[in-house]
Amino acid sequence: KEELNMIQGALELRTKTVQDVMTPISNSFMIHSDAVLDFNTMSEIMESGYTRIPVFEHERSNIVDIMFVKDLAFVDPDDCTTLKTITKFYNHTVHFVFHDTKLDSMLEEFKKGKSHLAIVQKVNDEGEGDPFYEVLGLVTLEDVIEEIIKSEILDE
Ligand code: ADP
Repeated sequence: KEELNMIQGALELRTKTVQDVMTPISNSFMIHSDAVLDFNTMSEIMESGYTRIPVFEHERSNIVDIMFVKDLAFVDPDDCTTLKTITKFYNHTVHFVFHDTKLDSMLEEFKKGKSHLAIVQKVNDEGEGDPFYEVLGLVTLEDVIEEIIKSEILDE
């Protein structure tokens, strides 16, 4: 029964898109690029429990960087280091994908190992103005794997 489910899940990778499985931007834990890594901010980050945290500038839809919690290993909250110091030092690349990317191609991308988190965007050409990139959410390798095994992976 479980095997059959997994085969079904694997077959659906060709039709389902990242938008179907992503975490919407409204539910994403992110951090402002101007943040100062004081005790409060660092506690909030630790309490969120996430490994990778998108960094936004001006508005939540403008993702400019990714911070890894492990980047904080040498940060002393008493030093009030700016987040910018850290992001400039580690300089991780932000991986963007289009909302209609199929899960099988997303899995291939993740397997290449650059980053196991991607920011989901689409070209918004509705409305009067010029078309623009709209950020919809984030997707990780775990979201894709959950689609294959058809069940939630509970966090440690
Ligand atoms: P983590 O290692 O941080 O637990 P995973 O890659 O295991 O992240 O993903 C677990 C779930 O959490 C996935 O559904 C993913 O979309 C979601 N997720 C990952 N990072 C964030 C974040 N910064 N804010 C909100 N949800 C996130």
